[in-house]
Formats: sequence, C-alpha cells, structure tokens
Amino acid sequence: MARAWNFSAGPAALPEEVLRQAQEELLDWHGAGCSVMEMSHRGKEFMSILAEAEADLRELMGIPEQYKVLFLQGGATQQFAQIPMNLLAGRSADYIVTGSWSKKAFKEAQRIGTVRCAANTEESGFTRLPTAEEIKLDPFAAYLHVCTNETIHGVEIPAERIADTGVPLVADMSSHILSRPVPVEKFGLIYAGAQKNIGPSGVTLVIIHRDLLGMAPLTIPTIMDYAVMAENGSMLNTPPTFGIYVAGLIFQWLKCQGGLAGMAAVNAAKAETLYACIDGSGGFYTNPVDVDCRSRMNVPFTLADARLDAVFLEEAKAAGLLGLKGHKSVGGMRASLYNAVSVEAVQVLVEFMNEFVRRNG
Ligand SMILES: *Cc1c(COP(=O)(O)O)cnc(C)c1O
Repeated sequence: MARAWNFSAGPAALPEEVLRQAQEELLDWHGAGCSVMEMSHRGKEFMSILAEAEADLRELMGIPEQYKVLFLQGGATQQFAQIPMNLLAGRSADYIVTGSWSKKAFKEAQRIGTVRCAANTEESGFTRLPTAEEIKLDPFAAYLHVCTNETIHGVEIPAERIADTGVPLVADMSSHILSRPVPVEKFGLIYAGAQKNIGPSGVTLVIIHRDLLGMAPLTIPTIMDYAVMAENGSMLNTPPTFGIYVAGLIFQWLKCQGGLAGMAAVNAAKAETLYACIDGSGGFYTNPVDVDCRSRMNVPFTLADARLDAVFLEEAKAAGLLGLKGHKSVGGMRASLYNAVSVEAVQVLVEFMNEFVRRNG
C-alpha cells in the first residue's frame, strides 16, 4: 500500500524514515527485549531516550542553559490553564488575540484570574496582525501571551516582529515549532502540543525560563506546578514514554535535514509554491490573509464557487491527497505544510489544484 500525501492539520504527517525506524525497533528496542512502550520509565533505557531527546532538542533550538525543557501531557489546551495558574501570581496578564487558538487561551485564562486583551484582530476575520499602535500593553503584566502561528486562520508572526516588551513573553508555538530557528532567549515560556510538528499526540513541550519557576501558589495541584515538574525531570509521574521516544526520533531526523535553518529554507519554498498557485489562479482560489503574515505551515484557502468544495475534496482524495478539508469555523480548504510534508507532496498538490482549475474554471 502506498502512503498518501498527507496535509492534515494535526495529528499530522510524520517522516516516513521515522515511522520505519519506530517499526523496526518496535518489538525489541536496542536489545532491551521489549518495546519502548513496555519498559519502565525509570529504567536506564528510557532515561537515556529522554536525555537524548532533550539534548537533541536543546541543540536544534539553541535553548540556553537557564531554560528548563519539560515533556508534559494534556496538550496545548492544558497549557491555556496551566500558564495562568503558575504565572499570574495574583497579578494580571496580557493576551494578544489573533485567531481561534489565542482566543481560546485568553478565554481559559479568564477562568483562572485577571487577564486583559491587549489587541484583537477578530473584526478583520483574523486575517492580519495588529499594528504596533493597536497593541495596548500593561507594563506591569505578569506576562504577555501570543500565538505565533494560528493553525486555523493561517496567520503567523514573522520572527523579526517578536519584540521585547519588558514583560515575559509566553508563546503558543504548537503548529510551527521546529519549522524555523527561534530566538528562545526572547521568550519566558514556549509551549507546543506535539501532534503538529513534533511527533505523536500526547506529549506537550514546555520550555520555561528558570526565573518563571516557583511562582505558583500552593493551592494548585502538584502535577500542574512547573517547578515540581522541573525538579522531577518531567517524571513526577509516568510520562508519555512512546510519544517522547518518537519525538526524539524526529529530533534526530531534523538534525539530518540541516537543523532548523535547513527546515526553514524548505518550508519557505513549499509555502511559496502553494501561495503562488492560489494567487495565480485568477480568483478561483483565495487566501484572505495579509501577505506579510501568511503562515508557512497552515494555508487556508477557499474556492470562489463553494459548490465545488465537495468535488474538490473527493477528487483530491482519489488522487491520494489527504486532510485538505478546512476547519469548520473558516470553511473551504486548508493545507498544512509541516516539516514532514515534502516538497514533492506540495508539487503534487499544486498540480492537482491547477488541473482542477483547468477542468472547472
Ligand atoms: C492544535 C493547537 C492547539 C490545541 O492543541 P491540543 O494539543 O489539542 O490541546 C492549541 N494551539 C495551537 C496553536 C494549535 O495548533
């Protein structure tokens, strides 16, 4: 059976080499006599898997020593609550709302404590970033929360627009982490659910500056306390061992692809190819996002004639193109171009899209 071209928004495509390696090692990991799923998380075998995954991630992202790397559970959604639980410390925090995910993070934080909306682009249908003048920051905020890539609306904050505001910057990077180099030192906390660009679902990555540890009130559950998780090396309880193992294989794969700079070049080329197809379709396809903040990872687009949506999806599936249905809140289509989606996959997609215009335009 041939593997399809997978453009799913998440859980998403994984590199075939990584899946094959996991398959080869499934019954007997490196002579351990069992799979990673079946071994103690506190045994030396798994401890070495975890240590290597962290070391490789630190190398890939250039994570400075004063940051802790945590492999947690509960998804990015749990972080929407865990961040204010740990970091508010009786103060207020600022949120910039640029799409569905940052809107959800803001809403969840309101359940925990005092938060302010520093800017919101919902009026534009989340098709642009706020201007500097539109952002009203509280200089005393406990932190400023942003989503650096809005997976549903396809809005990405370019790296050069990440500015120092004087308060710790907290970023949801779920859908574009590891897609390009990141200046980690500009952030207080970076988090990401694994199932977009890291590995299988069930692992949540948190990279946190040491200064932000130990601020949680004693009333929060132990398992929600970053400081406790950091002290216990992400092993207060059983971590998602198999997911961490696969994430580790991905980190090794990324190192072979030229690291994050290598990935960034490939990702830029993929995105350029798809946006050129959309913009050059004479209005058959449309992406509504401002050109300067279009996501390189998640490309939503609509067909001028929505009656063709079902045919488009059906024919795409028949051509071996999966996961193109847009999010229900936006409609139309969405192609996610994560690290494991090859240049060839994007070329096949674009050829299909051009051919579809020829037959239906
Ligand atoms: C997918 C996604 C989430 C939700 O992640 P879960 O792991 O399902 O909780 C949050 N933020 C962003 C940007 C996402 O892409």
